[in-house]
Amino acid sequence: MKNDIIDVLVVGSGPAGLQAALHAVRKKAEVAVFGKLDASSIHQAHVENYLCVAGVTNGADMLAVGVAQIRKFGAEIIAEDILGIEARDGLFLVRTEGGEYMARALVLATGTSRKKLKVEGEKEFSGRGVSYCVDCDANFFRRAKVAVVGNGSAAVDGALTLLNYASDVFLIAKDLDIAPELAAKLKESAVQVKNGVWVEKIQGRNGVENIVLDDGSTLAVEGVFVELGAKGAIELAVNLGVALDMATMNHIETDRQMKTNVIGIYAAGDIAGPPYQMAKAVGDGCVAGWNAANYANKLKREA
Ligand SMILES: Cc1cc2nc3c(=O)[nH]c(=O)nc-3n(C[C@H](O)[C@H](O)[C@H](O)COP(=O)(O)OP(=O)(O)OC[C@H]3O[C@@H](n4cnc5c(N)ncnc54)[C@H](O)[C@@H]3O)c2cc1C
Repeated sequence: MKNDIIDVLVVGSGPAGLQAALHAVRKKAEVAVFGKLDASSIHQAHVENYLCVAGVTNGADMLAVGVAQIRKFGAEIIAEDILGIEARDGLFLVRTEGGEYMARALVLATGTSRKKLKVEGEKEFSGRGVSYCVDCDANFFRRAKVAVVGNGSAAVDGALTLLNYASDVFLIAKDLDIAPELAAKLKESAVQVKNGVWVEKIQGRNGVENIVLDDGSTLAVEGVFVELGAKGAIELAVNLGVALDMATMNHIETDRQMKTNVIGIYAAGDIAGPPYQMAKAVGDGCVAGWNAANYANKLKREA
């Protein structure tokens, strides 16, 4: 990074985030995009409904072209997940798997996540012990025994957060895949890691009472946090006061400028609502990146 403060920090390296970066960087803003390319929904898709691209085209190849394009214009792409964001003196302090960054404006373009475990008992106990958001629900599990399930940064960060609330925190991971800095924090913590196992069943009566693991063992817990992959924008935005779409509570509310209710924060792509299509994601990204760069440039001029 050339400067201490990034003008536009884009959370998510799918079509919405990359297009936001492309438009922001061309407005002479310093731009950094965070996220893992292979976690974008389009990475596994075969696309044949995107204008000016003939025939069926591999989504992963399209992303690779996008990355080369935005790098050429000077944006940085950092393959790390964002773990937390705080407002700080009119700017944003962004904590990633590997470090911390300050930014003038944010574009949230994380797609829609909330992946399910797809095991027996998950649906039955959803909202009665099974949660998909540590930052939203940790407080309900004060002094309880809880398990966090997942292999990535969201699970590890969630487990570390839960240490402030729960009496015992277990991390269930089949194959942990996190940055070395986060792995070091986990090692030093009181989280009880069960690596190499996975959840087979969630059991209980009125609420969760235990989980059955695929090594045949049973673990008594009252809460199961499913945190697969990276934190979604809703989890990241929850502490910033970003408003959700009231009808679904699954999307971030924006206006036609892709502005959220919080000054300096924009949202784009699937996280900003349907249709869940690449064409809509890049359209949102263009508007969000454009406006985020204008906002950051204005802040700099006024400083
Ligand atoms: C199987 C499949 C087939 C599809 N086929 C088509 C098609 O043919 N045509 C079409 O138009 N659309 C298709 N879609 C939909 C399309 O993929 C999405 O609409 C589009 O990818 C949305 O773009 P996005 O940038 O909003 O989100 P995504 O592409 O999902 O990208 C989200 C990005 O956010 C990152 N991220 C998430 N959390 C964090 C975090 N905490 N920190 C940092 N980064 C984070 C991820 O790593 C990822 O890079 C398909 C989707 C699927 C699943």
